[in-house]
Amino acid sequence: MDDLEAFRTEGRRLVDWIARYLEGGEKLPVLARVRPGEVRGSLPASPPEKPEALEAILADVERIIVPGLTHWNHPGFFAYFSNSSAPPAILAEMLSATFNVNAMLWKTSPAATELEVVVLDWLRQMTGLPEGMFGVIQDSASSSTLVGLAAAREAVPGLEARRRGLVGQARLRMYASDQAHSSVEKAGIVLGIGQDGLRKIGTDADFRMDVRALAAAIREDRAAGWTPFAVTATVGSTSTTSIDPVPEIADVCANERVWLHVDAAYAGSAAVVPELRWLLRGCERADSLVMNPHKWLFVPVDLSAFYTRRPEVVKAAFSLVPEYLRTPEESVAPNMMDYGVSLGRRFRALKLWMVIRAFGHEGLAARIREHVRLAQVFRGWVAQDTAFEVVAPTPLSVVCFRWRGQGLSAEDADRANEKILDSVNLSGEAFLSHTKLGGRTVLRLAIGNVRTEERHVQKAWDQIRNAVGLVNR
Ligand code: PLP
Repeated sequence: MDDLEAFRTEGRRLVDWIARYLEGGEKLPVLARVRPGEVRGSLPASPPEKPEALEAILADVERIIVPGLTHWNHPGFFAYFSNSSAPPAILAEMLSATFNVNAMLWKTSPAATELEVVVLDWLRQMTGLPEGMFGVIQDSASSSTLVGLAAAREAVPGLEARRRGLVGQARLRMYASDQAHSSVEKAGIVLGIGQDGLRKIGTDADFRMDVRALAAAIREDRAAGWTPFAVTATVGSTSTTSIDPVPEIADVCANERVWLHVDAAYAGSAAVVPELRWLLRGCERADSLVMNPHKWLFVPVDLSAFYTRRPEVVKAAFSLVPEYLRTPEESVAPNMMDYGVSLGRRFRALKLWMVIRAFGHEGLAARIREHVRLAQVFRGWVAQDTAFEVVAPTPLSVVCFRWRGQGLSAEDADRANEKILDSVNLSGEAFLSHTKLGGRTVLRLAIGNVRTEERHVQKAWDQIRNAVGLVNR
């Protein structure tokens, strides 16, 4: 397996294959067409006894794995929050695996730690976050939110949850809108806050947190004996990309002395566009914040940027240093293992660094600006077609809409929209996903792929209109 000649030969061939895949990926069906168990059935049930040639293994990647993939790098990928990998980041992943450093301590790879510090500071500057915010890379926004809320719990005076646990202690309560991502609730489950410890606050007609309801809920909970400790505001909610009024939420948090965490997992990246910096208004007052370059900054999964104004609290929540991890530099250089759950940490900073350098701030901003324009173009087409309706504001690159199903009951119209979605997704040209708003089925077209152009959005719209014809036949 240390046959470096075969590595050279297959490596060259693989890079060519990757380039062809990226060039021609749109000829593949975006959504995998395999049935459950089909890929597994094509693979040997037991491992090989003898070594196999790289050539044979890579042939199976093409024969078995590729047909079983949903192609996130396809420019017709419009589901969830679409994300994509730019070539510099693909090369960075190869380098990261080549170096295979573990960025747990400064000493275990000084360059990995220091590049992480620098590149997260670059991203902070590019998005207009204030100086002094400390950044650390986590694997996902779910982990970043867990870290932020664990720090919030650590900051509760006199609780000492880290040492004493929560049994027999004050009941903690945290708040997020009814549009917040499930990772907030999951963090509550992990941290012992419990699902009852999350109070979901209602939203206005534009799906933004109702700040008066938040303030009233905190007051009411205090009176009832709860200990409010954290609010998660969402900048770019998952269903509609709504943006909570962070400045007003920050006022409530300051008055009530509770931690403000901001989930900007999707929308944070858009703040690299100068005219979209307003998105993060108020976030300079956040105690912690997450944005995911692996969602909308063309960096492959996984890379989540976690920022905090209070790194000492995050460290107090997580740092646990056994003798074998002690180093003489710990007082002068950060050890990133102190700011999260994992000890071992991949060298993720490399891919963000390479993407920022290869695109430049302007190049990244131009791509995101174009995605926002394309969303407005698509919204215009939907709005002009009386058979359809747009059902939420489109501040960024996601359009929520549905086929009206005039004359049908609500249930039948919902079912028709589900069929339209299935039909579009079966076409192989586009992949969209759905959500529920006000109890009704809604289709989402989410633009975010670095290779998506207007012709791909046009093709998706053609497929949607075709599907209406098919469903109503
Ligand atoms: N927060 C928001 C607003 C999201 O939309 C998502 C995922 O789409 C997440 C958090 C979770 O992201 P991750 O997959 O990085 O955990």
